[in-house]
Amino acid sequence: MMEQDTSFTGRVSRRRLADDLWELVNVPSPTCREREAALRFAAMLCTCGAEVEIDETIPESPNVIGRLRGTCPGRTLQLAGHVDHIDVPHPPPKRDDDVISGRGAADMKNGLAGILEIVRLFRDQADFPGELLVTVYGRHEAPLGDSRGLSVLLDRGVKGGAAIVFEGPDDAVVVMALGMSIWNLMLRRNGDVCHEMTGPDKGWSLIRATRDVLALLETKNASLASTAANYPLLPPESVFVGQVRYGDFYNRVPDTAMLQGTRRWHPGRTYEQIRAEFAGWLSEINVPPGITIANEWIRVGESYEIAPAEPIVQSMLRAWRDVAGLDLNVTGHSSVNDTCRLVMQGNVPAVLCGFDTQTGHADLEFARLDRMERACRVAVAAAMDYLGQPAKEPNP
Ligand SMILES: [Zn+2]
Repeated sequence: MMEQDTSFTGRVSRRRLADDLWELVNVPSPTCREREAALRFAAMLCTCGAEVEIDETIPESPNVIGRLRGTCPGRTLQLAGHVDHIDVPHPPPKRDDDVISGRGAADMKNGLAGILEIVRLFRDQADFPGELLVTVYGRHEAPLGDSRGLSVLLDRGVKGGAAIVFEGPDDAVVVMALGMSIWNLMLRRNGDVCHEMTGPDKGWSLIRATRDVLALLETKNASLASTAANYPLLPPESVFVGQVRYGDFYNRVPDTAMLQGTRRWHPGRTYEQIRAEFAGWLSEINVPPGITIANEWIRVGESYEIAPAEPIVQSMLRAWRDVAGLDLNVTGHSSVNDTCRLVMQGNVPAVLCGFDTQTGHADLEFARLDRMERACRVAVAAAMDYLGQPAKEPNP
């Protein structure tokens, strides 16, 4: 007979995780239209034993706040996630014994199912100190998402002493990430679109300026790539060109050229500083007469870092070792997620714990139940470890 795992983390149920993910994945929640899914999650959270509040600041994207209080005062651990998924068609949800697929299954309704299971297990655990604070919000996924839901919560002071965000890698403890912005350059020529035979210089000044901008960005990127990295856990800083649009017909002289790309940067510098530096780069270009360059930015997320000594980081490392037998080192992450807002706006030390997010945004999104179960056991152990230690100062 197989030995029963009667430890606390051994109570994580793959079947309950699967049932919850199945229910969530069957309620669509494209970014900015999350209301029905948020209310469904709130009802499920209530059933798991949390005290639930709906924050209606954004009616189409309400925030769900849940609290599960322990038997004595202590730390507050925030369990965070977004309920929206990208608005890209996907085959109808499907499930078998091992895998559940559907839009949002990997990003990140799998993590939301994990939050429900964690709350349920802590409710059944008669005695634990402190509090679990659940925050689930919409408006996360670009291009429509602006993280306003999470931002509203942080402005209201709804936050923990530390947070786990239930997406990202499921084999790493992330303590820093690159910041990222989208830049847009619009080069404009005096005069209207015209036939090549009637244009003043047949568009060559606009072509020259476009070429010079591209050459400048290539040089800057090369120098960013070769700069000695103060952050060996992160890839080098970069400037990337994703789109160049010039002209629309073989013998028309266009009046504009559009360039768009990203700028990614290390912790220690802010979006404003990076943006000002970029403007400084552009001033190195000898812009031909009659050409102007407009430079517009969209901030996606600030870079951040937290100390590896943060209690939540140490709790995660211990949990990975004890539950999964993995001796992990802390690491960096190259893409932007909600930890950046929690750390930079909320001053909340935050880590990632993915529940099998590998196929997020893919044509076929799915979550493997064994990976979800393992991540959930790690998260339960980390939560217990974190709450089990005395709070040094009162929680905010
Ligand atoms: Zn996500």
